[in-house]
Amino acid sequence: MKNLNADLLRQSSYINGQWHANPGQEFEITNPANGAVICEVADAGAEDAKLAVDAAAAALPAWRAKTAKQRSSVLRRWYELIMQNQEDLAVLLTTEQGKPLVEARGEIAYGANYVEWFAEEAKRIYGDTIPGASSNSRIIVIKQGVGIVSAITPWNFPNAMLARKAAPALAAGCTFIVKAAAETPLSALALAELAEQAGIPAGVFNVVVGKSSSDIGKVLTQDPRIAKFSFTGSTQVGRLLLKQCASTVKKTSMELGGNAPFIVFDDADLDAAVQGAIASKFRNAGQTCVCTNRIYAQSGIYTEFANKLNDALQTLSIGNGQDDGVSIGPMINEEAVKSVQALIDDAVQQGAQVRESKQAMPDGACYMRPMVVTGVDSAMKLAQEEIFGPVAPMIEFTSEEQVIELANDTEVGLASYVYTRDIGRVWRVAEALEYGMVGINEGIISNEMAPFGGVKQSGNGREGSKYGLEDYLEIKYLCMGGIDK
Ligand code: NAP
Repeated sequence: MKNLNADLLRQSSYINGQWHANPGQEFEITNPANGAVICEVADAGAEDAKLAVDAAAAALPAWRAKTAKQRSSVLRRWYELIMQNQEDLAVLLTTEQGKPLVEARGEIAYGANYVEWFAEEAKRIYGDTIPGASSNSRIIVIKQGVGIVSAITPWNFPNAMLARKAAPALAAGCTFIVKAAAETPLSALALAELAEQAGIPAGVFNVVVGKSSSDIGKVLTQDPRIAKFSFTGSTQVGRLLLKQCASTVKKTSMELGGNAPFIVFDDADLDAAVQGAIASKFRNAGQTCVCTNRIYAQSGIYTEFANKLNDALQTLSIGNGQDDGVSIGPMINEEAVKSVQALIDDAVQQGAQVRESKQAMPDGACYMRPMVVTGVDSAMKLAQEEIFGPVAPMIEFTSEEQVIELANDTEVGLASYVYTRDIGRVWRVAEALEYGMVGINEGIISNEMAPFGGVKQSGNGREGSKYGLEDYLEIKYLCMGGIDK
C-alpha cells in the first residue's frame, strides 16, 4: 500500500470510543488486485455487538439533548476531516476493494457530501402547526430522532454506504452502530478514527467488524433497544433481515439489489448513450446496485449501438486500481468472477454472442474482461439476474410498449435509464417505469441532494435529500388543550 497516515489504518472494532483488540481472533484482509494480505483485523462477534448497543443506549440521552446546531457543527467537522484525508482514504479503499483510485477518490467525496448535506439539514428538522378541532385546542407536530439506529453495509461502496446512513442518523439525534462487510472493514474503521477526531462523543458512532455476520446481524436486528435498522446489500439477505426485524417491529430502510434496464430508442443521441452506458455499466467493474444490467436497444440502432459500445470498451484499461490510467479494477473475489462467467456461459449456450474484445488483461484471478454480449433474450439468466460484473447484455426491441413491459418484468425496481430525444416519450416512459430512479439521457444519477432508493423488492426508504432525514425521524402529535377562558 502507498504510504498513508498510520492513524487511518485501524484494525479492530470501534465501540464506545475504544478500539477493541481481540487477541488470537483475527482475520485477514486481502487486496483483490493481487491477493496480498493487507493486514489482520480483530474478529468481533455477537458479544461485541451487544457492547455496541449498550454504548449507543448510554450515549443517546446526551446526544439527542444537544441542539441541532451543535450536532451540525460536529458533523461539519467530520466532513472536513474526511475531505482533508481524501487521498489516504481513497488509497485504503482501492487497496481493500479494488476500484480504480480515481473512482475511490470520487467515492470519498460522494460519501463526504452526505455528511456535509445532513450537517446542514440537521438545522431544518421542522414541525407543523395545524388548525385545531375545537376552539379549545391546538394541534402541533414535532419531529424527533427515532433513537438507536443499527446498520449493515456492503463491500462495493465501503465508505459511502456507511456515510449516507450514519450522517442522517446523527443529524436527527440518533446514536448509531454499523457492521461493515468483512471483505472491506478498513474504510469503515478509518471513518471511525475521523469521527473521533471530529469530536463525535463516545458511543454515538460505533463500528463492529467481524466474520460472523449472521450472529452480529441477529443482535443488530433483534435487540429491542434498537429503534431502526438500515441495510444496504442483496435482496436475498435483505429479506432475511426484514424478517428478523419483525420480532421487535423495527422501522427499516432497505437498499437492496437492482436489475437496471438501459433503454436506447432509435432517436437517441447514440454517442451520449454510449458514454452513459459505459459510466453506468462499467463503473466499479460493474459491481454497483445501480449498474445497467440489461441494455434494450431499438431495432433501428441495435447493431450500430453494439458496435459503438464495443469500440468504446476497447479504450478502457484493466488493471490494479492503484496504477495510473486504470479504469477497470479487479472484481471483489474469485467467486464473483466465476458466478458472472456462469451467467455468460448460460447465455452463450442459448445463442447469445460475446463481442470480440482486445484489451490487454493483467495477471490475477479476480480480473474479468469487460464485454458486450449481443443476441440476448429477456428470459435468459443474464437478463433476469443481477450480474454484478463488467458484462453488458444487449436485447433488441421494436416498440415503446414492448420495452416498458420487458423493463418492468422483474421483481426489483431500483435504477433505470432511458435515452431518447422525444420529450413526450420521456414523460410516458419515465412515468411507466416501475423503478425508484430514472436517468433520462443520463447514466450517473446519484448524489446527496437526490432521494436514492428503490421500489418492489429493491427495498424501502430513501437515502440522501430531505427525504433521507425523514427516515430517521418520528412524528409526534401534541394536542394542546385548555385554551378557552
Ligand atoms: P450481501 O451479501 O447482502 O452483504 C451485504 C452485507 O450484509 C455485508 O455486510 C454482509 O456481511 C452482510 N450479511 C450477509 N449475510 C448476512 C446475514 N445472514 N446476517 C447479517 N448480515 C449479513 O451483499 P453484497 O454482496 O455485499 O453487496 C452486493 C449487493 O448489495 C447487491 O445486490 C447490490 O445491488 C446491493 N447494493 C444495494 C445498494 C442500494 O443502495 N440499493 C447499494 C449497494 C449495493 P459479510 O460480507 O461480512 O458477510
